[in-house]
Amino acid sequence: QAVSPAAYIRSLYDKYELSFKQEGYSFEFIDRSASVAHRGAPVWIDVLRMEQVVTNLLFNARKFTPSSGFIHLIVEQSGSREKGDLGVRVTVQDSGRGIDEEDLPFVFDRFYRGKESSKNSSTGTGLGLAICKEIIAQHGGTIEVESKLGSGSAFTFTLPVMNDMEEELAHDKGSENIDRR
Ligand code: ATP
Ligand code: MG
Repeated sequence: QAVSPAAYIRSLYDKYELSFKQEGYSFEFIDRSASVAHRGAPVWIDVLRMEQVVTNLLFNARKFTPSSGFIHLIVEQSGSREKGDLGVRVTVQDSGRGIDEEDLPFVFDRFYRGKESSKNSSTGTGLGLAICKEIIAQHGGTIEVESKLGSGSAFTFTLPVMNDMEEELAHDKGSENIDRR
């Protein structure tokens, strides 16, 4: 399905805004894509699976961040139309406990939960991020993490934006019933 990335991500933010804020988090949606070239340029996604990705990242942020902290959901442009690598970048940033440098290379592995997570009472199977990575790869994108122990984490995924030709095709699909003879 072709969706406008900023509007789609915003709709997911809206879904969790109330509950996150009620729990005490400073929860913000930041749209930095508004002033740039691909405003309106659609991405082609499986909306349910993409929701699973964003939800996994948001719930991780909540799990590993005290409720006095912040969680930011950010949408930006990546690459450029000129270079032919125009995309959209979505980041879930938190001010939580962060990830140990030693754990960092493994967090996207199946069943990997980090030393702290396995030790303490935090629940989970360690599958969340592995699933995120798989879904993003299926969409032709990439996902990465930046984190510092004690000062928070940022998970960022990038998706390609549809080019004009793909966009036309998507429109055509939507009007399959029109007889063009
Ligand atoms: P599940 O998602 O299956 O319920 P999980 O949350 O432990 O379990 P993942 O989502 O795959 O598993 O995350 C793997 C590990 O990466 C976590 O156990 C935790 O150690 C670390 N991690 C993930 N997100 C964050 C975050 N926002 N802040 C700190 N650590 C994180
Ligand atoms: Mg998880």
